[in-house]
Amino acid sequence: MSEKIKMTTPLVELDGDEMTRVIWQWIKELLIEPHIELNTEYFDLGLKERERTKDQITIDAANAIKKYGVGVKCATITPNAERMKEYDLSEMYKSPNGTIRALLDGTVFRAPITVGGVSPYIPTWKKPITIARHAYGDIYKNTEMLIGNEMSGATVELVATSPSGKEERMLIHDFVYASAPSGIVQGIHNTDASIESFAHACMQYALDTKQDLWFGAKDTISKTYERRFRDIFDEVFGRQYKSDFAAAGIEYFYSLIDDVVARVIRSQGGFIWACRNYDGDVMSDMVATAFGSLAMMTSVLVSPDGYWEFEAAHGTVQRHYYQHLEGKSTSTNSVATLFAWTGALNKRGELDSNQELCNFAKKLEAATIATIEDGIMTGDLYVLSNLENKTKVDTRAFLQEIAKRLAD
Ligand code: NAP
Ligand code: MG
Repeated sequence: MSEKIKMTTPLVELDGDEMTRVIWQWIKELLIEPHIELNTEYFDLGLKERERTKDQITIDAANAIKKYGVGVKCATITPNAERMKEYDLSEMYKSPNGTIRALLDGTVFRAPITVGGVSPYIPTWKKPITIARHAYGDIYKNTEMLIGNEMSGATVELVATSPSGKEERMLIHDFVYASAPSGIVQGIHNTDASIESFAHACMQYALDTKQDLWFGAKDTISKTYERRFRDIFDEVFGRQYKSDFAAAGIEYFYSLIDDVVARVIRSQGGFIWACRNYDGDVMSDMVATAFGSLAMMTSVLVSPDGYWEFEAAHGTVQRHYYQHLEGKSTSTNSVATLFAWTGALNKRGELDSNQELCNFAKKLEAATIATIEDGIMTGDLYVLSNLENKTKVDTRAFLQEIAKRLAD
């Protein structure tokens, strides 16, 4: 065997929980360590270690990504009441993804991995559609009120008070006591800073992946709030990205959100769709399902300061893990987790001008796709694939099949 590929800068490795933790070890053992002298700064974000460190490990991992620039993350459990019992937790820790995203101020890009034999539900879609969700503000940080009972017939206003005491008021609605006294109201906000960093992340990612960027809002109806998003995107684009986009042969395209939705369905794919917080929440599930399987969806966190974190979009696949613990065979799809590794190794290679590392990442991706297109796949794809000769294999056998093709 030829000499292993060397890495000059460590990759930040964030281990996780359950079935994806098992897969994580096997990917390293079977596909990465035989070929690379793996240099990682390892953080165990498994729930036990988060409990032991009172979640400090998550913060340390995020800071390491800030230091080195690139991380790869395994899926992790976000604790709920059942997990508190199962893991005897002293606190209901926040989602590690939320903590890391807040520390890196990042935007999450989700893209499907497409393979022959698994056709998207939309026949015109030929290339992946990447969704970028603005994960700050709007209804996710709202204040809302039920107007009824003692507040029936209330007059509801927006009130802003400046630090110097200046006040601005606007009527939201006068609930008319006689005819329509009750109802609902909500206040939402966003900040210019957050919208700007979202715009930067989207435009940088578009340049990085050489894909057009689409954005939609409802600025005809919401002439101040929604309009602000459009204006900030325009400003950031004009100020910093216009000539780079032209040089890269890509476009920034704005339209009304309903028009964008219609165009997405008619499109061939192959672009980035920047979505407002709610739109991204809803549309990412639609796009993921329409492309086939959640297990084929990758997720990249990109910060405006140039930090990158790669992961699978799915969770820890708990049901399969319990089968695995009982010694039963599982057929868990490792593709998204594997592509998190190749994405991270490729980015590390790019930043370090380590062409060998980039080439290896591409080769491993190609071997993975070839395995599935040869008809060897896990159960989730087996039910979707329209290949005539197909075989369902278990979790580890699938990785071994990739290893064979990688060695060729
Ligand atoms: P999940 O782990 O994504 O799994 C839900 C179901 O989707 C599975 O039971 C399985 O269906 C199918 N599935 C998902 N990934 C698959 C794969 N790679 N291969 C084959 N099938 C796959 O979601 P969950 O069960 O709701 O959550 C489990 C844990 O993951 C939770 O503790 C949650 O907090 C955590 N989570 C973490 C992240 C993250 O770290 N980014 C994201 C989401 C959830 P079948 O059982 O029908 O085979
Ligand atoms: Mg959602």
